[in-house]
Amino acid sequence: MLQFKRSYRYIILLFSLQFSICCASAQKVIPVPYINPVWEKPCEPFRIAGNLYYVGTYDLASYLITTPQGHILINTGLASSVPVIRKNVEELGFKFTDIKILLCTHTHYDHVGGMAAIKKITGAEMMVNEGDVASLEDGGNSDYLMGGKGSMFVPVEVDRVLHEHDTIRLGGMKVIALHHPGHTKGATSFLFDVRDEQRSYRVLIANMPTVLEDVKPGMASYPEVAKDFGNTFKAMKELKFDLFLASHASQFDLDKKHQPGDGYNPMAFADKKGYDEALAGLEKDYKKKLGKK
Ligand SMILES: [Zn+2]
Repeated sequence: MLQFKRSYRYIILLFSLQFSICCASAQKVIPVPYINPVWEKPCEPFRIAGNLYYVGTYDLASYLITTPQGHILINTGLASSVPVIRKNVEELGFKFTDIKILLCTHTHYDHVGGMAAIKKITGAEMMVNEGDVASLEDGGNSDYLMGGKGSMFVPVEVDRVLHEHDTIRLGGMKVIALHHPGHTKGATSFLFDVRDEQRSYRVLIANMPTVLEDVKPGMASYPEVAKDFGNTFKAMKELKFDLFLASHASQFDLDKKHQPGDGYNPMAFADKKGYDEALAGLEKDYKKKLGKK
């Protein structure tokens, strides 16, 4: 009888173990709340400056930094962007499987929707600011604003947790991660130098601090939101750089600076004025939504 009980218990244990493994692998991703048609519109890839390339869609910017030791990819767009990015990388003459490091400006589904698939194909290391680790690893379900309804993208395992001003190194490149919280808790801009035959350029890939609808000061899911946004505006106004890029192409007017077929022209992205104006517009909106009444 004791023997029977033991094996019975063993079978139940095995069964429940198998059940939980099965459920974990078949994790459901809920339909995303919104897709702007320009997010899925294709875009011709091009060389921005030195070893930095645009490989995203018409509006969802993805950046490839190439090095002799492999490549860094920043942002992936939606899940549907993966074949577009892959095609773009290969059209430029690079190997998709040479991507070694994955970064993102923030963990919303329109910038990390393809991250799990790209990580699986390339085996690259995923690095993200500590504030966005939870939301990247649960598919956005712990996002302070959009979370709570389920995973909006396939969860991605984080290999390295980034902190303010950490440096990401690969093949002679040094990319500095600047923590600019508010839009998400771990929102990050990237600052680095690239060089061509003429000169070197300091590039800023900015996570522009957009305050989404329904963000309220002191909200329970992010009590520090107003303070964090305030500090981010302060820090971003101080930044020094030559070329301005961002998470969405529309945030830096890509279509006014580069048309399909245009030749190599890094200085088209030298737009401190455009950056200052965009930041000022967002700060006005921030004061309206989160400022002291
Ligand atoms: Zn976002």
